[in-house]
Amino acid sequence: MEKTVNLGQLAEMAGSDVIATNTVIRSRPGAEPPPRVVPNPNAPQATAQQPQMEVQQPQPQPAAPPQAAGSAFSQGRAGSSPSNARAQSDARFVEVGDVLPSLCMAYNDKTLAVRPFEVPEINKIHRSVAESTIRHEVDAMSATLSRSAYDLTLGDFYWLMYWQYVNSYKRLPKTVTWTCTNEEHMNRVGSGELAPDSLENVSEVKGSNLIEKKLDADAVNAFAQRFFDTWGLYLDLPRVSDLVETEDEKDPDADWYSKYTSVISREHYGAQHKRRRDYLRGWFKQHPDPDVLSDFEDWIDLTDHGVEERVKVTCQGCGVETQVDLRVTPLMFLPKGYSRNR
Ligand SMILES: [Zn+2]
Repeated sequence: MEKTVNLGQLAEMAGSDVIATNTVIRSRPGAEPPPRVVPNPNAPQATAQQPQMEVQQPQPQPAAPPQAAGSAFSQGRAGSSPSNARAQSDARFVEVGDVLPSLCMAYNDKTLAVRPFEVPEINKIHRSVAESTIRHEVDAMSATLSRSAYDLTLGDFYWLMYWQYVNSYKRLPKTVTWTCTNEEHMNRVGSGELAPDSLENVSEVKGSNLIEKKLDADAVNAFAQRFFDTWGLYLDLPRVSDLVETEDEKDPDADWYSKYTSVISREHYGAQHKRRRDYLRGWFKQHPDPDVLSDFEDWIDLTDHGVEERVKVTCQGCGVETQVDLRVTPLMFLPKGYSRNR
């Protein structure tokens, strides 16, 4: 039988729940146990796959057509109801599953509901900043979602932080201050036709003008298949749980291995980062051809998704549209008085 592999399949099979705050991994009742991860130099890796990979799963749906500008960030899908019981009975939640940058390719559940941060979550964000750890920030996000934030791809998590930035503190306008560098505009200032301060802008950040990066489902599936055919490894997208688990890593090789460990299948090689890293360390010894590193890097580039940390703005002085950086940090969620004192 022809073997196919894609993230949709991996998500269908993923049976792990990550418990907030301590990264204890539990298998879903009834789920297949993860395969034993013993590298075998004599057997081609491709033959070591699990039987359930041979079950043909429906292909993931291609990207939904883009929503009307702004709908993703400001409201979610119009008319849709949130995805779990808690969210359904709570009018604060909106459904964003079909506008997430990952297209939910790596999730079993294709829906996700979110509500804006409230004071208890701002409290957690404060603790994250105070203790310089992302853990409490992830817990804050979890409290506002229909499921655990630990399971999210990093791209979706950062996208949701921008969603929170736009949607929390409703009365407060979100703005970005920037200086126009349009040459014609600068020349008109240089000649005295326009005042220098006409270059200075304060633009509102609405969500609709944030620049997103979405996955290309066909390209992602095709690459994952090609990678598997070449190297016999199942790929995944980097998850928040890995980031939290490796935050206090002391291993000098941690950065090197973490990068690649984060993109191999949790289902096949272990839900815990450390376990997968041990597997990969052994795998590299058996497969020392450095070409695999280039392929890993190509996968990481191809699956980069989330937000570009830039926003589209229009100069008030010359009307030219441009893009400026907007980096949302945890500090931006804290009340003004706190930020001022930092
Ligand atoms: Zn301008």
